Amino acid sequence: MRGRAQRRGPDAGDDFWSWRGQMYEVARSLTPESIRAISRVAFRELRLAGVRTVGEFHYVHHQPGGAPYAQRTLLADAVIQAAKDEGLRIALLRVAYHRAGPGRPAEPDQLRFCDPSVDDVLRDVDALRTRYADDPDVRIGLAPHSVRAVPPSWLAELHDYARAHALPFHMHVAEQEREVLECVTETGQRPVELLADRGVLDARFVAVHATQLLPHEAKLLGAAEAFACICPTTERDLGDGLPDLTALRDAGVRLCTGIDSHVVTDPFEELRALETHERLRTHRRVTFQPIAESPSAQLWREGSTLGALACGFADAAGEVVLDRAHPSLALVEEPYLLDAIVFGGGPGLVLASSSGSLTAHAQRAT
Ligand SMILES: [Zn+2]
Repeated sequence: MRGRAQRRGPDAGDDFWSWRGQMYEVARSLTPESIRAISRVAFRELRLAGVRTVGEFHYVHHQPGGAPYAQRTLLADAVIQAAKDEGLRIALLRVAYHRAGPGRPAEPDQLRFCDPSVDDVLRDVDALRTRYADDPDVRIGLAPHSVRAVPPSWLAELHDYARAHALPFHMHVAEQEREVLECVTETGQRPVELLADRGVLDARFVAVHATQLLPHEAKLLGAAEAFACICPTTERDLGDGLPDLTALRDAGVRLCTGIDSHVVTDPFEELRALETHERLRTHRRVTFQPIAESPSAQLWREGSTLGALACGFADAAGEVVLDRAHPSLALVEEPYLLDAIVFGGGPGLVLASSSGSLTAHAQRAT
């Protein structure tokens, strides 16, 4: 899709939903072989950009038409293997998907993502947990896709399972205004209100995107010590809008970032966009009081340690070695090195990445 999705579609009014139609076309065409090959390319690009840990929001599970493969987790295994082939740690976030939206059964192109019941979802999660229990580089998580694609009645049971096994629990939350409106129509509650009401918010909950939240929803996430995974380059590519990061930070929500659609694979850009997009939204500069010693140190921590935590890993393993002699850093004074890396750096700085990660060791840049 890279490149191809940047042309105008046949109908006027390209938006998130027309992009999604293009994405579904690609998803429909995937085979176990091609999903592994494509995943390897994506993971290689991440590794070369300095990433060591990927959380894969994985939702192509079944054959076109929706029939399970004889080996039910064939595609999840292909993605995990691709990450291992490229030397990445992976949290395979097994997505639960059931419907097109409230009162609407799954569309034909969504059948590959769908399971008839919670039991089918958990059977696969059980199998994956058992298979990778002894692999320190693999975590299995549970990811109800969204309040749109998963009925409210599924949430508590999925969350009970995740809590019982201490699994990361990721959901798309309020990426699009339409999701919020449909949720209010179905339940009388906005998405985060519903999630709080169903008891699924806790310190392992990760709200992906969190674009269309009201301040009181940020407070509900913060009170639960939940994460928000902001995906700035994808959100701006899709025209999602700008999340209110000031409200999220003020509420104590832990932030991390996602590459998401791989429209750009540049973790440095994701980190600085947490702050630079907020500047565009608020018409101010340096929009938050850092908990860490500087805004850059805090952003770096959000992109490394907090990202790893959100994926169920205890820490951001390894380190990344950056090129101090690179022209973009050559004239930078030592005390401001990390600031220059976060606000002006890119994958071209990464010298060693096979065992590297975006950890707080950039000061060791050689
Ligand atoms: Zn997304």
